[in-house]
Amino acid sequence: MIHKDRVLVVDDEPINIRIMAATLEKAGYEVFRASDCDTALRMIREANPHILLLDVMMPVMGGIELTKLLRNDPETNAIPIILVTSLGRTEDKVQGLNAGADDFLTKPVIAAELLARVRSLLKLKRLNEDALSRYEPASYDISGADNSRRGKSIVLIVEDDKIAAKICGTILGAGGYEVIIAASILEAETVLDCTVPDLILLDLILPDGSGIDLLASLRTKSEFENIPVIIVSSITDLETRVKGIETGADDYLVKPVNSLELMARVKSNLHKYEINQRLKRNADKLFVLSITDPLTGLYNRQYLDTVLEREIAASRRNGSVFSLLLFDIDHFKEINDTLGHVVGDSVLRELGRILKNDVRMNDVAARYGGDEFVVMLLNTSIDTAMTVAEKLRLIVENSVFASVVTISIGVAQVLPEDSGMESIIKRADEALYVAKRKGRNRVEIS
Ligand code: GH3
Ligand code: MG
Repeated sequence: MIHKDRVLVVDDEPINIRIMAATLEKAGYEVFRASDCDTALRMIREANPHILLLDVMMPVMGGIELTKLLRNDPETNAIPIILVTSLGRTEDKVQGLNAGADDFLTKPVIAAELLARVRSLLKLKRLNEDALSRYEPASYDISGADNSRRGKSIVLIVEDDKIAAKICGTILGAGGYEVIIAASILEAETVLDCTVPDLILLDLILPDGSGIDLLASLRTKSEFENIPVIIVSSITDLETRVKGIETGADDYLVKPVNSLELMARVKSNLHKYEINQRLKRNADKLFVLSITDPLTGLYNRQYLDTVLEREIAASRRNGSVFSLLLFDIDHFKEINDTLGHVVGDSVLRELGRILKNDVRMNDVAARYGGDEFVVMLLNTSIDTAMTVAEKLRLIVENSVFASVVTISIGVAQVLPEDSGMESIIKRADEALYVAKRKGRNRVEIS
C-alpha cells in the first residue's frame, strides 16, 4: 500500500473543513479533522500528521495561539503549519509568522493554491529530514546562534516600477537589510554574476521577460537553487501565482505591499533558509569526516577505492592514464616497539603532512591502512610516477625522523586490461614486495 501524507485540518466551521478535506483527499492525502484546539492536540498525538491547516479565528483558542503552543513543544515544533485567515487581515499574518507559522491561505481557500502550498511545505520538510538523517543528532543544532552569518543579509529586489522598488528598498533598508535593486532580468543577471543574495523579491512582469523564467533558470544553478524567492506582483491572477510556487518560489506578496507583511515574510523566509543552510553545512562536514582518515587527515581507503574505480572506468572509456604509488613504512613494528606507539602515531601524522604538502592538487593521497599509503597520480605515466616516488622517498629519508623512518614504494600504471582496482593494486603491491626484499628504502616498478 502506498503511504499517504497526513493532513490535519482544524476549523470550527464544518463547511470549511469539508471543502478543504475534499480537495486534499482528491489529491491523495489522508485527512484528519478537528473543530477545536483540544481535539486538534489529541489528533496531533494520535495521528501524527505531516502538516497542519489551522483556522485563525476559532472560539476559546485560535490558530495563532495554537501555533505558539506547538512551536514551544519539541515534539511538535517541526510540523509545518499553514494558517487560514480572512481576506485583508494583515495583522493576523504578521502575528502568525512571528508565532512560527510557515505559511498562509486566505479564505475562501482555492483548491489549486491549497495544494501548491501543502506540496511545497511538505517538500521543504522532507529536505530538512533528509539532511537530518545524514548525521548524528548530537551535532544537530538549529537553535544556536548562527556564527557563519557575518554582516547584513542581502536582499535583491527585481522590479521595474521604480517607486515600488524604492518603497520596498526603504522598508527593508530600515529593517537592517542590505538592498540591491535590479530593474530588469538582464540587470538581475548582471547582479547575480557577482553576488549571491540571501533572498530575492521578484516581480513577475519585467520589461525583458517574465520573472517566472528568471526563477526557473535560477533553480537550475546550484548556488541559487535554495535561495528564498518571494514573488511580488500586482497580478491577482491565481494561476500565475500557483505557477510561481510550482516553479520554486517560496512565497508571494501582492502589491501594494504592506510594510509589516513584507518584513515578516522576508524574516521568516530568511530564517527557514538559514536553517536549511546550517543543516547542509553539517551534512557537508559529516561527509568530509566520512572520507577522512582521522589520524593523518588524508583520505581514507573507502574514498580511495571510489576514486580508483571511477578513474579505471574513465581510463577504459577514453584511454586516460594514471599511476599509483603504494608505499609502506620500513620496520614500523620496530619503531612502535622501541619508541612507543605514541611516537609511531606521530610518524604516521608526519607522513600525512608530507603527502599533503608535496602532492599536486589533483592527485589523491590516502592512508590505505596501518602503515600503508597510496598516492594516485592522475594523467601520469609510470616513468614520471617513478620520479615522483623517488622524490617522496628522499623527502621521507630526510624528514624530521631522519635515519629512523624510511619507506619502500611500489609503482604501477593503469593498463587497458584492468577491469577493476584489484589488478592495479596487486601490481603495485608486488613491486612493493620486491622493494622490501631488495633491502627497503627504495622504489620498484611493476
Ligand atoms: P616492513 O618493513 O616489512 O613493512 O616491516 P613493518 O614492521 O613495518 O611491518 P608491517 O608493515 O607489517 O607492520 C605494520 C605495523 O604498523 C604493525 C602495526 O602495529 C603498526 N600500526 C598500524 N596502524 C598503526 C597506528 O595507527 N599507529 C601506530 N603507532 N602503529 C600502527
Ligand atoms: Mg611496514
